[in-house]
Amino acid sequence: MSPDPETRTFLIAGPVRIHPRFLRAMSFPSVNHRGDYFHGVVHEIRELLPVLFGSKGHQAILTGSGTAGLEALYSGLVRPGQRTLVLSNGNFGERTDQIVRKYCDTVTTLSSPWGQHIPVEAAIREIEKGDLRAVCVVLNETSVGLANDLSQIAPAVKKSGALFLVDGISAVAGIPCPIQSWGLDGVVAGSQKGLAAPAGLAMVHLSDRARAELRPGTFYLDLVAHLDSLEKDDTPFTPAVPLFLALREALLLLKEETLEGRIARTHRLAEATRAAADAIGLELFPDRSYVSDTVTALRNPAGMEDKQVRKVLLDRYNVEVQGGQGALKGKVFRIGHMGIADWPDLLVTFAALEKILAQAGRLAHPGASLLAIEQKMP
Ligand code: PLP
Repeated sequence: MSPDPETRTFLIAGPVRIHPRFLRAMSFPSVNHRGDYFHGVVHEIRELLPVLFGSKGHQAILTGSGTAGLEALYSGLVRPGQRTLVLSNGNFGERTDQIVRKYCDTVTTLSSPWGQHIPVEAAIREIEKGDLRAVCVVLNETSVGLANDLSQIAPAVKKSGALFLVDGISAVAGIPCPIQSWGLDGVVAGSQKGLAAPAGLAMVHLSDRARAELRPGTFYLDLVAHLDSLEKDDTPFTPAVPLFLALREALLLLKEETLEGRIARTHRLAEATRAAADAIGLELFPDRSYVSDTVTALRNPAGMEDKQVRKVLLDRYNVEVQGGQGALKGKVFRIGHMGIADWPDLLVTFAALEKILAQAGRLAHPGASLLAIEQKMP
């Protein structure tokens, strides 16, 4: 029998496991998206959104994956002929660059090798030139398991007058994203990461200034239309109704746990994952000073390929983690520990990893990873 997805230990870097409460919320008869019931749902979601962002800015919900949110943000705020800086250090930084270049023909891109922090000094030099429309960056680079420390560039961006636009898709509700103190003008979140809801909705948070300067860059993703509608508890087009029902539950659960509580729990799970990896000699891929708390990227043990690690995890132990992207395909695997990931998930995953290493004659200290996790448990 092939491994059962219903009972799988599911720790990819998003979409993450969906809370059963959110699944049940979606098993609901069709409702009129222009009727009172659905307006009530949208109203509740609108009131709950500040819980997700930890801030009360202008907020929009788009039917579409995280990339729809990014495209809405960049297409509405960057301008042809007005220089925009993109900072990149992984697959999603490169994606930002691709999207921004669709809407702006004067883009300066500063990149670091994958796994390294964004180049702060070079970025500050560029920002201090003073002619920038916007600075665009990924907060948590999911592809390499690295969280960029945006506090290192935030004061320079603020002083320059550039808009500060951030891909927070795998960061929001997982790691701190202090919108007000960093002066972020635009932040995009995705439903399938820290919220543990199904994929397919993007949430966008805007500052007053960003809201005022929006121009429709596309028809469907025009943030002005989405913001105006949401203010009336409505959506401009037919929304993904079941996903909205799930989002309402996801926001309620986040409110119960609190944003700070979710971030602190995610941090503990991340620390346990790193301690467990260290205990059995699995090497972190990114610069350890900037490791992400929502996803841990580990190198495949030397000489072992994906089919000896990830494939065995899935086929034999029904544990699913994620492979590498781009040049990292086959070289790293990534464990997502955001949303509703929990201690038993980590224990099962590392027990299986230990079995795989033992089989390959590479496990010096049996049980060490499980002990490391246990020591971090509250
Ligand atoms: N940006 C980051 C940081 C991501 O982690 C992802 C997805 O994993 C995306 C963008 C793309 O989001 P989506 O696949 O939801 O469009």
